[in-house]
Formats: sequence, C-alpha cells, structure tokens
Amino acid sequence: MKVISCDVLVIGSGGAGARAAIEAHDRGAHVIVVAKTLEGKAHTVMAEGGINAALGFRDPDDTWESHFMDTVEEGVFLNDQRMAEILARESPDRVFDLERFGAMFDRDEQGRIAQRPFGGQSHRRTCYVGDTTGHEVIMTLVEAARHRGIDYRSELVVTTLLHDPDDGSRIIGAFAIDVQRGSYLVFLASATILATGGAGRIYTITSNPVEATGDGYAMALRSGATLVDMEQTQFHPTSMIFPESAKGMLVTEAVRGEGGYLLNSEDERFMKRYNPEQMELSPRDQTARAIYTEIQEGRGTPRGGVYLDITHKGQDLIMARIPRMVKQFEKFANIDITTSPMEVAPTAHHFMGGVRVVPETCESNDLPGLFACGEAAGGTHGANRLGGNALAETQVFGKRAGEAAAGHAADRSPPNDYDAAFVQREIERLEQPFGAEGAAPHALKEELGRLMWENAGIVRNEKLLVEGLRRLRHLGRTQCAVKGSRRYNPDWVDYIELQNMVLVSECVLTCALSRKESRGAHYRSDHPRRDDSSGLVHYTCTLQDGVLHIGSVPVEITRADPTMRRGD
Ligand SMILES: Cc1cc2nc3c(=O)[nH]c(=O)nc-3n(C[C@H](O)[C@H](O)[C@H](O)COP(=O)(O)OP(=O)(O)OC[C@H]3O[C@@H](n4cnc5c(N)ncnc54)[C@H](O)[C@@H]3O)c2cc1C
Repeated sequence: MKVISCDVLVIGSGGAGARAAIEAHDRGAHVIVVAKTLEGKAHTVMAEGGINAALGFRDPDDTWESHFMDTVEEGVFLNDQRMAEILARESPDRVFDLERFGAMFDRDEQGRIAQRPFGGQSHRRTCYVGDTTGHEVIMTLVEAARHRGIDYRSELVVTTLLHDPDDGSRIIGAFAIDVQRGSYLVFLASATILATGGAGRIYTITSNPVEATGDGYAMALRSGATLVDMEQTQFHPTSMIFPESAKGMLVTEAVRGEGGYLLNSEDERFMKRYNPEQMELSPRDQTARAIYTEIQEGRGTPRGGVYLDITHKGQDLIMARIPRMVKQFEKFANIDITTSPMEVAPTAHHFMGGVRVVPETCESNDLPGLFACGEAAGGTHGANRLGGNALAETQVFGKRAGEAAAGHAADRSPPNDYDAAFVQREIERLEQPFGAEGAAPHALKEELGRLMWENAGIVRNEKLLVEGLRRLRHLGRTQCAVKGSRRYNPDWVDYIELQNMVLVSECVLTCALSRKESRGAHYRSDHPRRDDSSGLVHYTCTLQDGVLHIGSVPVEITRADPTMRRGD
C-alpha cells in the first residue's frame, strides 16, 4: 500500500478545491489535491452566466447587505445566515483575487468589471466572461496553482475518509483508488478538505457532469458527519430538450438576464401569470414550476418544453454575450438562436444541502480535521440558490477552508499511522462485485436517475416519496457484477459511485418526506404552503450503525427575520 503524507489534503479540484489549495499553500502548508477528473476538468468549468459580487459598478446603490437579503429571501429563510453574510461581504474581494490571479472579466464602457442582472436579484451584480465564466475561473485557478508548484493528482477516486486510530472522531486523510493502475493509495494529512461538488447525477435529467455523484456527501456521512437540507435540490428552469444526447444540458440564465422571453405554445409570455413583476427573472424555483405547469396543462411545445426566445435582441448582442449558447444549439440541435427560439424545460442542477460546517472555518461540526467547501457544504443557499452565488461560494469558502485547514495543520504534528484493518474492510467492500453474478452498475444508475426524477422531482408528495423509498430499497439490494480487472475499469467506478448515489438519494427522499411544507425548491403538492411555525428547521442526516437517521436543528436567525419584508 503506497502511503503519501501532506499537511492538507484537498479532495476535488473544482473552483472550491483549487481556491482552498492556493490559500493553504500560501499559508505555508504542503498541499496535495486529488480528483477523479483531470486538472481543470471539474464541474466548475461548465459554469456559464457569472459570479455574484456587490461591486456596485453597474448599480452604485448595491451593497453587501442587499446581496445578503437577496440570498436569504431567495433561500426562503432556510439559509445559514452567518454563511450568507460571509458570502455577501467577501465575494467582492474574491472576485478581485481572481483578477489578480489573471482572470479577464468582461468590462463595461468605463473599463470596470461588467455586471449583468440575474434572476431573483435586486441589483445587477453578476460579473461574467460572456457565458464561459466557469472556464475562465477554473483555468485561472489551475494556472495560479501550477505557478505555485501545488501537487495535483488526477484520476484518483477517493472512496473513504480515514479516522485517527487513537481518536475515533478525528479525520487524518483518505483512501483512494488510482483508476489507471487499479492500485490503492493512502493519503495521511493533518487536515482534509472535501471539495467534491454536488450530486446532480442522481437525477436522469441533469445539467451536471458525470462526476457529480455525491461521493463527498456519502463519505462524510459514513464517517460520522452530519448533512443538512438534503431535500433542497434545485431544478434550473431551462435546459435543452432535444436531441436525446443533449437532454438536460443547461441553457444559462444569462439568456434571460440579457432579455430573453419565455413563451408557451400560444405565444404568451406566461410568466406574467406567475410573477408579473420579475417575469423571466423570477426566482429559479418559481420559474421552473411555472414551466412545468405550462407543460403539464398542455401549453408546451410538441416536444414537451416551452420556448425561450432572444431573437429580438439582434445578432450582435447575442453573439457577444452568449456565444457558447449559439454554438451549443448549432452543434447539438442545428438551430440558429439568433433567428429561431430555443425549446427548453427544467433540469436538476444544484444541491443546496451538504456537509454541516462551522461557517467561519468550514470545519465539520462533528469531525475535527475535516473541512468542506463549495457545493459539498450545505447552508449558504437555504431552500434556493441565486444564479451566480455558487461560483461566489467556491471562492469565498474555498479561501476560508484553505486558511483554516492550514492553521489546523500548523498546530499539530502530521499523522503517521492509520487503521489497517479498516482499510482492509474498505477494500473488501470495493471488490465485492468482482466475480459476482448480477446487474451492470451503469444500468442501475440509469434506473436510479429515473426513480429520483419521477419520485423526488419538481413536484413531490407523500405518495410519490414513499413509493420512491420503496423502489430505492429494492434497487439498493440488487447485486451488482463487475467484470474484468481493477485497471481502468469504468464499470468498477460506476459501482463505487452507485453506492454513494443510493445513500444520497435516501437522504433526499427521507428529508423530503420529513419536510411537510413547500419551501423554495422543495415543493409538496400535498403541503403547498410555506409553514414558518414548523418549517424553520434544517433537517439533518446522520448514519448510526449503517441506518439513516433524520433529525432537525433550528435555523439560526442573525440578521433577517423571516417575518420581515424588504423595506420593513
Ligand atoms: C452547466 C452549469 C452551469 C453553471 N453555471 C453557473 C454560473 O453561471 N454561476 C454560478 O455561480 N454557478 C453555476 N453553476 C454551479 C457551479 O458551477 C457549481 O456549483 C460549482 O462549480 C461547484 O464547484 P465545486 O468546486 O464545489 O465542485 P466541482 O466543480 O463539482 O468539483 C468537484 C471536484 O471533486 C472531484 N471529486 C468528486 N468526487 C470525488 C471522489 N470520490 N474522489 C476524488 N475526487 C472527487 C471532482 O473530480 C471535481 O474535481 C453551474 C453549474 C452547471 C452544471
């Protein structure tokens, strides 16, 4: 068994992991970054529309307080308000950090960073690079990390965290598979940062890349961490609906930010019936449900979507502001969006829930030595995420996690031992499907995706959720078979991910069943109203002896009282 030591181990090389690694390195820690994907190929690279920061360039009266209030109102007061405040206060400096590292944001007429409007926001505060903002962010961070000589190791799948053999709760690193060689690796670290992103792939229709299988949530849960708000899965209103290979692929909110109209088959701008003030820039949950309702009530397109039309803005603006969308529709659907409308429908997009952490340090409340940031951590977005706030979260909390992890590592000597019997049991768990008779893991992944879309999708109710849990239990008990060797075997990786996806799906279904109200992205047709008398709690997930337990903790109110409305 190869054993590799460092001060800070970062699991995940997306925006959050990369920013954490840079910060920990700059504070003197020896950092190793491990990831399933190749360097720079994380989910973050797909982010399109922009990153929020109350710079006040476009709207001088924008402030961090407005950004905070937008975040909490959009999150329907389920947010961890300390996290939302940190996000709003610090995102301007993190955007300037990105510039300092070399990011080239689009500029306004006066040469300042340009800012566009995004849904649910009171001011124009979303900074962008056309519709390829995530690409610019991740490439800039990878360059900055390379320049510092940070050790990146790709195509390693981490399967479990490791506990200190002398102090059962402390995390001292992780165990991983080298996908290319089929070999095993132990990483020992004084501090471990989970920056493993979300779990959009538990849904069959999703904007997320293949690696978004919730590994970090499952590993944290199995190690004794608490997850919060797992019922809060965001459905982005607009994704491609054809061809089949492009189904679920995101159509950025920037299309509506730049003035695109949503139209039904009767050529009506239907958002006027759902939110006449904010129209196409209504919060994501409202817009996704409005589109869903139009389609369900027979006003959809023949292919089962609605139209998104930006042709009235003219070719020059479209080509300048959303060039990636032009190419995407041309390439996949053979449609010129400068002259024809797009056809769109909702897609599973973001996990607002995740590992419960101390807001200021990103350290797990339960496991010393474990930190989580980016989409892996829960709390910042409450019941609904504002477009542009996820990239901001990766930078703000990536920096904080890196700083706290480096400080944690500086205060103690590095671990030099691990529980070999635990690792042996983990290997037995991983190798269990070799030589067995059973189902192909990828087929079960597909079945799981359909189950979650049908039973825990945009509209939920008790009957659907109970039925979903029954189907999940059946699926979870199905024996899998993996053929071939451990070397470069995608079926084996599918098997490992499937175990994580089943556990994460159980969290989503069970928390959704517990939340007997509608709040933000979580909409229950049998409890269609928000209920502040019983709903202002975070539902929590823990594993005890392998059994999932759902608890609750009150939402802490620091600044924004839920009974307060803007202007009160
Ligand atoms: C199409 C699309 C467009 C978006 N547009 C925007 C936008 O315009 N603005 C915005 O704010 N947000 C946007 N988002 C959301 C945003 O991109 C993500 O929330 C954010 O990038 C997540 O970053 P992260 O660093 O937390 O995780 P990720 O970027 O998902 O990185 C996760 C990392 O963890 C690694 N990993 C996972 N599991 C393991 C494992 N078991 N072992 C080893 N490594 C592992 C992965 O390989 C990867 O390197 C968009 C999302 C999508 C899908």
